[in-house]
Amino acid sequence: MASSTPGVLTPMMQQYLDIKGRNENCILFFRLGDFYEMFFEDAITASKELDIVLTGRDCGQEQKAPMCGIPYHSADSYIAKLVEKGYNVAVCEQTEDPKLAKSLVKREVIRVVTPGTVIDASMLDEGKNNYIACLFQDKRGFGLALADVTTGEFAATSFPIEAEKRVLDEIAKFQPAEIILNEAFSFRRTLEGIFSAKTTVRPDWTFSGENAFRKLTEHFRTLNLLGFGMKENDLEANAAGAMLEFLSEMQKSSLAHISSIRKYSHQKCMVLDLSSRRNLELTETIRDKSKKNSLLGVLDQTKTALGARALRRWIEQPLVSVKDIALRLDSVEELKMLPILRGDLRGLLASIHDMERIMAKVVYQTANCRDLVALKNSVKNLPAIKSILSDSKASLLARMHSEIDSLEDIWSAIEKTLTDDPPFSVRDGGFIRSGFSAELDRLREAKESGSQWLADLESKEKLETGIKNLKIRYNKVFGYYIEISNSNIHLAPQRYVRRQTLANCERYVTDELKKIEDEILGADEKITDLEYSLFVQLRSGIAEQVLRIQKAAASIAALDALQSLAEVADRCRYCKPVVDNSGIISISEGRHPVVEQMAGAFIPNDTELDLNDNRLAIITGPNMAGKSTYMRQVALLVLMAQAGSFIPADRARIGIVDRIFTRVGAADDLASGQSTFMVEMNEVANILNNSSKRSLLVLDEIGRGTSTFDGLSIAWAVLEYIADISLIGAKTLFATHYHELTELEGKIDGVKNYCVKVLEQGDDIIFLRKIARGGADHSYGIQVARLAGLPEAVLERSKEILADLNSNDIARKTPLKTEAIRPYKRKKIRVPENQMLMQDVFGSDMFPNETSVRSADLES
Ligand code: ATP
Repeated sequence: MASSTPGVLTPMMQQYLDIKGRNENCILFFRLGDFYEMFFEDAITASKELDIVLTGRDCGQEQKAPMCGIPYHSADSYIAKLVEKGYNVAVCEQTEDPKLAKSLVKREVIRVVTPGTVIDASMLDEGKNNYIACLFQDKRGFGLALADVTTGEFAATSFPIEAEKRVLDEIAKFQPAEIILNEAFSFRRTLEGIFSAKTTVRPDWTFSGENAFRKLTEHFRTLNLLGFGMKENDLEANAAGAMLEFLSEMQKSSLAHISSIRKYSHQKCMVLDLSSRRNLELTETIRDKSKKNSLLGVLDQTKTALGARALRRWIEQPLVSVKDIALRLDSVEELKMLPILRGDLRGLLASIHDMERIMAKVVYQTANCRDLVALKNSVKNLPAIKSILSDSKASLLARMHSEIDSLEDIWSAIEKTLTDDPPFSVRDGGFIRSGFSAELDRLREAKESGSQWLADLESKEKLETGIKNLKIRYNKVFGYYIEISNSNIHLAPQRYVRRQTLANCERYVTDELKKIEDEILGADEKITDLEYSLFVQLRSGIAEQVLRIQKAAASIAALDALQSLAEVADRCRYCKPVVDNSGIISISEGRHPVVEQMAGAFIPNDTELDLNDNRLAIITGPNMAGKSTYMRQVALLVLMAQAGSFIPADRARIGIVDRIFTRVGAADDLASGQSTFMVEMNEVANILNNSSKRSLLVLDEIGRGTSTFDGLSIAWAVLEYIADISLIGAKTLFATHYHELTELEGKIDGVKNYCVKVLEQGDDIIFLRKIARGGADHSYGIQVARLAGLPEAVLERSKEILADLNSNDIARKTPLKTEAIRPYKRKKIRVPENQMLMQDVFGSDMFPNETSVRSADLES
C-alpha cells in the first residue's frame, strides 16, 4: 500500500486510507464527483474482476496510486458482479454538498453490500427470499437466526448440541446466501462443503448474552425479550443479537422494517435434508437447475412476487400439524370451487407490486418516486380484495377478510403528493402534483413566466437590432446567452457583452438577460430542492407505517399462494386429501405432478402404506418401467398434502409424516472427494440413523454402486433394519433389481412385493407403467439396451452371458438366511466431516459370518 512509502499523502488520499482502514474486508467504492473510484489493491482486483481499465492517480507519493473507476449511475451492476464473485463492497458517499464544503468534502461509508445484505432488485430473484443466517454454537447447543433484509423477515430457533445434522437440514430449508458464525463454531468446513453460501466468522463478543440482549432490546425498544418468548442468553437471542449487530454494521441506516422477531420451533415443519430436497426436485430440476419442471414450477400460478415467495416457503417447509394443514386445504377448496371469484381475485393481485421489498427500500431511504407510486397502485386494490373475501367460509380466508388493512391513508398520501408517472430521479424535480404545495406552485409559476420572459425578450431584441435569426439559448457553462451568427455581428449593440466566440457565431449577455436568468435559475433550484424535501417527508411518513404495510403484504402473500394452489387444483384435476395422524398413506389413482405435464398419457397408480402389514413396499420391475417415477410421486404427493395443496389423485388419505428421506440416483461428489458408492452409503447411514416410524423412506436401488453380492447383502440388511419396528418401522418404498429380495415377503412383517408391469412381445417389451402386487423375476436390461440402440452383436453376446450366469446362479445355490437379523443395537453415530467408513455406518458386526457372501468368494 502507498501508506508504507515515504512522503506526504494528499488530503483526499489520507481520507481514503482512513476509511479503507475501517473497511479492510471490503472493496471500497470511493465517491469522487460522478464516479466511484477504487485505489491500490482494490483497484487492481476490481479492474481484473470487472474488466475495466486500470490507471493511476497522483496521491502525493513518488508513484501514482493504481486506480480504476465506474460512473456512479451504473454502480449497481458492478457491485452485483463483485458480490456474486464473493467480495464485500463498501459504498462510500460524499456526505456534504461539495459546493458548501469549506475544505475536503466529508465522506462516509453508507452501506456495505454482502451476499446476504443485498437490497438492489437487480441482484435479487423476486420469487425467492434472500436469507442471511447467523449460527451460534456453545456447549449448550446451537442458536440459529435467519433474516431477509429485503422483506424484514426475522426468526430464530435453537437446537441441542448433538443435533448437528438437524442444523444442516434447517440451513438446507432456507438456502441462505450468507452465513455468520461465531469463533467457536465447529463445522464451518462442512457447511462450506454443502452450501454455496459465503461464511463470515464474527467476534465472540457480538454473540455474548449481554451484547445480544442490548442489541435486541435497543432495536425493538423493549425492556426485555419475554414478549418474543426469549430470555437473555438464550441460544436464539445470542444468534439474533449478533445478526442484528452485523446487519446494522453493514447497512448503517435504519433497520426499522425488521419490526419483530419470531421464535419458532423447527419441529413444526417436516424435515427434509438437502439431498432429498434435490432428489425430489422441489424448486429446481437436478439437471439444469431450472424452476420450470420442478414441483414449484407446476404449482406456481401466483400473481405477485409476494405470493411466489410464500408458495416457495410452503413447499420448502411442509407442515406437520393436522390443524394448520386443514386451514390451508379448506381455503384452497373454497377458492377452487369459486372460479369466477378466483378470476377476479387473480386480476386484482396481478397489479400488486412487491410491497415487502418496496418497504425495505423505503426504510433504507433508497426508494424513489416510482417505488412509492408502485406502492400506491398496489394498496389501491386492497379494498376490492377485502370485499371479495367478505363471504368467505374457510376460516383462514375469513380471517384475512377481517384483518387485511386497506391502507387507504397510504394510498391517499401518495396520490395527493406524487404525479402518476414520475421520473426516475428524485433529484431533478417534476414529480410533485400541482396543488399539493402552495410554495411549489408559486415557484413553478415563476419558472413558467420565466420562459415567457425569455420569449418576449428574444422578440424585443430581434426588433431592436433588426437581426431576424437572433436566438436566446442556454447551456450549463454560460447559462442564458444571446447568439448572433457571424454575418450579423456588426449589428450587435454596445450593451451586448461578448461571452464566447465560436466559428460561425458570437454569444452575448445583457443586464436584462442576467436578471431574468437569476430569477429562472433560482426558481429551478428552489423547485428541485423543495420537491425533494416534500418527497423525503412523504417517504419518512410511509416508513413509520412499515408494520401495517408489512402485515397487509403478508396477508396478500398467503392469499396469492392459496389461490395459486386452487388454480392448479382446478386446472389439473387435483383432489383434496384427507390429512390426519393415522399413519396411513392411501392414494387412489395417484399421478406424478410434473411427469404428467410432460408425458403424453400418464398412467395413474394406487398406493397403500400403513404402520402394520403394509410398511415396506419392495418394488421390482424392468429398467425404464417407472419405478423411480412412482416412488417420487408418492413422496411428492405426501409433501404437497402437508404443504396444504390438493394432489393429483382421485382420492387420498395422507397420514402425516415427520420426515421424508430419499436415496435415489447416483451422484458423484467429486468436489468432496467421495465416490458414488460412498455418497450412497453416507445417505443410507443418515437415513438409518435419523428416521423413525413416522418417516417416509424412498430408497432406489440401494447397493447398486458396488459388486453384486456386496450390494445385495447391504440392501437386504438395510431392509431388515428398517422393517424392524423396534429399530425404525418407517413406511418405505424400496425399488431394486435384486429379485432375491422379493423372498422377504411373508418372512419379514410388513413387507409386500410390488412390480411394474410390462408386456413381452418377442424380443421387445411394452411398458404398461402399472404397479401391481407381486415380484418381477427379471430386469429386461438387454431389451432396454436394445431400445437404447446398442449394436446387435453386443446384445446377442449379452444374452449368451446372461444364460450362462443364470445357470450358475450362486445366490440360488447359497440361500440367504433371514432369521439372524438381530445383531443391531441402534446407536447414534457422529459422522466425522466427509469421512465415513462402512464400519461407522453399520457397526463391525454388520455381516454375520454365516450370511456374508463376498465378491472375493465369487472370484475364487
Ligand atoms: P430404472 O430402473 O432404469 O431406473 P425406472 O423403473 O426407475 O427405471 P423411471 O425412470 O421411473 O423408470 O421411468 C422411465 C420413464 O417412464 C420416464 O421417462 C417417465 O417419464 C416414464 N413414466 C414413468 N412412469 C410413468 C407413468 N405412470 N405414466 C407414463 N409415463 C411414465
